[in-house]
Amino acid sequence: MVVFKMTQDKLIEDSVDGDLPSRIQAKEFYAKYEPREILGKGVSSTVRRCFEKKSGKEYAVKIIDISGEKGETYQVEQTKKDTYREINILRMCAGHDHIIELHDWFETPTFIFLVFELCKRGELFDYLTEVVSLSEKRTRIIMRQLLEAVLFVHDKNIVHRDLKPENILLDDNLSVKVSDFGFATVVNKDEELTELCGTPGYLAPEVLAVSMYDNAPGYGKEVDMWACGVIMFTFDFQFIHSV
Ligand code: ADP
Ligand code: MG
Repeated sequence: MVVFKMTQDKLIEDSVDGDLPSRIQAKEFYAKYEPREILGKGVSSTVRRCFEKKSGKEYAVKIIDISGEKGETYQVEQTKKDTYREINILRMCAGHDHIIELHDWFETPTFIFLVFELCKRGELFDYLTEVVSLSEKRTRIIMRQLLEAVLFVHDKNIVHRDLKPENILLDDNLSVKVSDFGFATVVNKDEELTELCGTPGYLAPEVLAVSMYDNAPGYGKEVDMWACGVIMFTFDFQFIHSV
């Protein structure tokens, strides 16, 4: 059976307003944090800047709706299961300079809150839009950081499966933080995956083949390397223009 888990290329416009969970629904979160403006939006989550009251430090909180108001019960159960898997994988990948750090998390009957280190410069996607093309030197720095993070994740037998400039964040120093492990999964040696999973423009051929042919073999960690290649291509780095 082929399972479809696809996100779109960046189409959703970030908005400045949106519903916040009520203070009664999420007492534990509000006791420790104060939410601010929206930083990004996904299918079932909203990411906001927030302050930790005790330390005054800024973080980003991913608020995942599990209230069931926007979907069927089975979808809510799936969202919960996927979020637990994301938390588990984030913990397994903790402690690397170029992987987003999960600082804290909470669960209430209606929302799950994941509190991450804040990446003030936002998505690599927006940075690329701003600068249009990258120098060869900048390309080397960003690709090295990205590949170091991918190597670290792969060494733990984890495949990310949704690498793209929207999921690569930048901190104050423009240092890479790989984020959004929502599609990541553990893949043991010699195991083959068969879910059609990722974002259309970044899918490796073997992922597409699984969905098209009954006798196609599955795929493995290599799919992340294909996505890295597509990402580097989008940099449109000046080296290409100068040869
Ligand atoms: P989804 O699974 O819904 O795509 P993401 O984890 O990718 O959720 O977050 C959605 C968007 O929110 C990101 O593309 C980015 O713009 C913003 N975002 C997420 N985490 C952070 C963070 N730690 N710092 C700054 N912005 C963030
Ligand atoms: Mg994302």
